[in-house]
Amino acid sequence: MSRVGYIDPNVIMETRNLKVYFVKGGFLAKKQVTKAVDDVDVKIKKGEVLALVGESGSGKTTLGRTMIGLQRITSGQVIYNRDGSPIIIDAKSKVPKHIRRELQMIYQDPYSSIDPYMKVYDALSMPLKYAGFSKKEMQSKIEDSLTMVGLPLDILPNYVFQLSGGQRQRLNIARAISLDPKFLVADEVVTMLDASLKGEIVELFKDINRKTGISMLFITHELPIAKLVAERMLVMYRGKIVEAGSINAVLKDPLHPYTKALIQAYPKISPETKDVIKRIDVKEAEAAQIESKGCPFYHRCPYASERCLHEMPKLKKVASDHEVACYLY
Ligand code: SF4
Repeated sequence: MSRVGYIDPNVIMETRNLKVYFVKGGFLAKKQVTKAVDDVDVKIKKGEVLALVGESGSGKTTLGRTMIGLQRITSGQVIYNRDGSPIIIDAKSKVPKHIRRELQMIYQDPYSSIDPYMKVYDALSMPLKYAGFSKKEMQSKIEDSLTMVGLPLDILPNYVFQLSGGQRQRLNIARAISLDPKFLVADEVVTMLDASLKGEIVELFKDINRKTGISMLFITHELPIAKLVAERMLVMYRGKIVEAGSINAVLKDPLHPYTKALIQAYPKISPETKDVIKRIDVKEAEAAQIESKGCPFYHRCPYASERCLHEMPKLKKVASDHEVACYLY
């Protein structure tokens, strides 16, 4: 068994030096290593909703999938603090089968997550049956979870394709919470919904969190959504956590040039943040970054120095509720 050291009893999910690398090529073609998650240390408290923000391709989904055991780890550890008994997942171990239902994920696309030609009842009962619940338990869990997400029980005989986009996402949420998870990854769950529905679904997640105490990693690229749903946030860029802290601290006083670039897109959040980041071809920056040992934001950063190219800055505490990984601080 892997050594784990001290586990904070208030923390339900933790990653230590977590790395998930993808290797392309080899043999005749040149090997290319993409560092989807690169030396990430994260702690999520019991009952907390933590927002993980960053642009597409930053590694957010890979980090979420790795936490619940859906992605193979290159090195480092994921520690799920299960009622004081830590479950350690590393490059050599997997999430034990009887624990899998406690770690759930809800995906972005409500249209492809569930077979549209399934009946709503079957969509809900299948995972429960697989998890070993009796018929009686299944019925009560189906009814409780539908009620919790605000769907009427009379939709049970309907086909999934008869539901609207908002109803399908509620059904996805019902499916996940019916399994009594302790930790949930919500991956861009409002991205594909109309603006009018986004607020409703965010409120639903907050309500579920309040009523059940399920801890959540809420992945989004939309800062206003992060602000609505969580009290603490992490900013991820090219596999690294570059800024972390309370929502208020990070959004009111963004420090990392990448966080500033993200906030520029939302003038209402921080009107004083100036447009300072180079608008360079992201693909070009990605290619240059593959072999680099330094700061992943080097090629877009107006403040970059020689040191930034060769050495990756570590997350540094700048206030009690604010950390940043940048040589400017
Ligand atoms: Fe820019 Fe250097 Fe800070 Fe990276 S470490 S964000 S390159 S100043």
